[in-house]
Amino acid sequence: MSALEIVQIPVLSDNYVYLAREPVSGAVAIVDPAVVEEPMAEAARRGWKITHILNTHHHGDHVGGNMAIKAATGCTIVGPKADRERIPGIDIEVDDGEAFDFGAARATVMFVPGHTRGHIAYHFAASDALFCGDTLFALGCGRMFEGTPPQMWNSLSRLRALPDATRIYCAHEYTQSNARFALHVEPGNAELVARSARIDALRAAGKPTVPSLIGEEKATNPFLRADLPAFQAAIGMSGQVPHEVFGETRRRKDTFR
Ligand code: ZN
Ligand code: FE
Repeated sequence: MSALEIVQIPVLSDNYVYLAREPVSGAVAIVDPAVVEEPMAEAARRGWKITHILNTHHHGDHVGGNMAIKAATGCTIVGPKADRERIPGIDIEVDDGEAFDFGAARATVMFVPGHTRGHIAYHFAASDALFCGDTLFALGCGRMFEGTPPQMWNSLSRLRALPDATRIYCAHEYTQSNARFALHVEPGNAELVARSARIDALRAAGKPTVPSLIGEEKATNPFLRADLPAFQAAIGMSGQVPHEVFGETRRRKDTFR
């Protein structure tokens, strides 16, 4: 299996759009094109021909560039089968557990509803890369616009089970404000304190905090820790059902200032 070359493009106020190139075939995907200009220009600068769009979910800041990019390049749009009517220009519908062959690379599709009811993630195991849209963020998770706590907790638990070295290519740079909330709920987590300092240094230098690794998220992300005794004790919910602990944590974040 071929390893991907991945380029991160910051757009709008806090979105990341990714270019992923598979070097054997030369296939190039734009993951969640929020916009048209920047990813097209970056691909052109590199002499890369866009062959695919990979969408994780239907929100405008993830599919906004679909139709214009397809019109300009003739690319193939891949997206969640469960949300086919909300993905503009969708050509290939993919569902949980399916393999999507992208040139000589292969993604396993994971159905991870909660932020939206059709949300998927693309796991390129041979590249240790996960494109997870707005489901899992560095030190955070997406809001549950169309899902329930048990659903979102199940989705996040499945992502947590990926190898520790998996890089999380999420779609937003929310990490610094996520860190403030994480420290608020679990101030005694030494790894979190240290990570938060590294995040502040990166942001002060104008650098991205994404991608992060599954391993560090497991140790520090409050939304992946709802079943752990140390975390449950920290928020005063020892011994409670994990999805309820997760749900309460998410509620507190929704109103945290
Ligand atoms: Zn979204
Ligand atoms: Fe988004």
